[in-house]
Amino acid sequence: MSKEKSAAELLKEQLFMKKKHAALVMTDAEIAACDDFCESYKDFLDSAKTEREAVITTIAKAEKEGFREYTPGMTLKEGDKIYYNNRGKAVILAVIGSEPIEKGVHLAAAHIDSPRIDLKQNPLYEDNEVALFKTHYYGGIKKYQWTTIPLALHGVAVKKDGTKITVRIGEEENDPVFFISDLLPHLAQEQVKRTLSEGIKGEELNIIVGSRPFRDDDVSEKVKLNIMSILHEKYGMIESDFLSAEFEMVPAYKAKDIGFDRSLVGSYGHDDRVCAYTALEAILGCNKVSKTAVVCLTDKEETGSDGNTGLCSAYLKNFLYDLAESFGAKGRTVIANTECLSADVNAAFDPTFPDVVEKRNAAFLNYGVVVTKFTGARGKSGTSDASAEFVGRVRALMEKNNIVWQTGELGKVDLGGGGTVAAYLANLDMDVIDVGVPVLAMHAPYEVVAKTDVYMTYKAFCAFLSE
Ligand code: MN
Ligand code: MN
Repeated sequence: MSKEKSAAELLKEQLFMKKKHAALVMTDAEIAACDDFCESYKDFLDSAKTEREAVITTIAKAEKEGFREYTPGMTLKEGDKIYYNNRGKAVILAVIGSEPIEKGVHLAAAHIDSPRIDLKQNPLYEDNEVALFKTHYYGGIKKYQWTTIPLALHGVAVKKDGTKITVRIGEEENDPVFFISDLLPHLAQEQVKRTLSEGIKGEELNIIVGSRPFRDDDVSEKVKLNIMSILHEKYGMIESDFLSAEFEMVPAYKAKDIGFDRSLVGSYGHDDRVCAYTALEAILGCNKVSKTAVVCLTDKEETGSDGNTGLCSAYLKNFLYDLAESFGAKGRTVIANTECLSADVNAAFDPTFPDVVEKRNAAFLNYGVVVTKFTGARGKSGTSDASAEFVGRVRALMEKNNIVWQTGELGKVDLGGGGTVAAYLANLDMDVIDVGVPVLAMHAPYEVVAKTDVYMTYKAFCAFLSE
């Protein structure tokens, strides 16, 4: 027999917030759907490791669901599904709603670039009969984490005659992979005295690409020559083609379940493909919407959103202006009435490193989609800080749709940092809030998310976009 609750207990129940572990509130059927959803998510992670590959994968999926390429001036009507490809590195998808476009659109924006190791423009050299690539890392990484792991080469080179070579080596079972070395502990007495951030320096991120010489006694740089001869045979490449190339080294790992209970997914690039994929699947499932639904998968977030494929550029604004024009509306009216979920990951509480967060406001694995009112640190520097009104609106949306959600922040007040695209979108004059998945070991070559959080984030985008 359960004893009757005291008045204080009842009052507490009525007044206090309760946090819920997603797996304890989801039905068996929902957990099965969640696990199923994450199987396709893992496929997406393995097939879309760079922004270019994410755009190709996204467009292929979208076309299958009836999305057509959009050109400004195209006649549009309710129910139309369109996409806009920005230079093969960013993509916008939209489903036209029944309400007038003047009332604004429902926008979700995620990024499809992830931290990685880019090759320099003149990368290939030979040193003591080892062939290597010089690199310049992309985004914020802890450099030592990228040594002594298998790396895959992805990217394109544009030849003098304009033809494009696409390269992807290291992903198939029998492909070779590439490697950044580190010192053996026996000889690292001096190196280990460096600080962690200097443990491996930027100019030490050199990638080993070969060691067998071209069989000829008369020439120098025989190992380099042998590598060039292989690249020439396979891709028709000459050394100067590197000058007009974008080659990127990414971890050659596949996405895998983590844990005896398979509750987590380990992968390269959850930040931010986890939000890109959930937003993408949500809009692919949209058929009849009242507000026009828009998903923007952008590039360059990890280097500050500058550049013509990043969200500091005008491409999203121009797209919304063009949409407005198709319906005889003003672009600025559409944008001012637009609501946006800036879809990006947040840091998950790590039991091994509890001191960097303030537990009452940190995001936890399996507590659902994270809603972050403001980013920034040391006085909210650089944040767009969503209004109480908009947070209230998003909170109501979550509750109405039985979405397990939590709030989060990026570390302690004077410790944290890191921004998202939220501020750039808010600066256009729309309501924006950060929404996403909590991640462990963010920006590491292998990051971890919880399946229930991925699923709740998908549900949140479905609810928001299909309204
Ligand atoms: Mn991110
Ligand atoms: Mn990031």
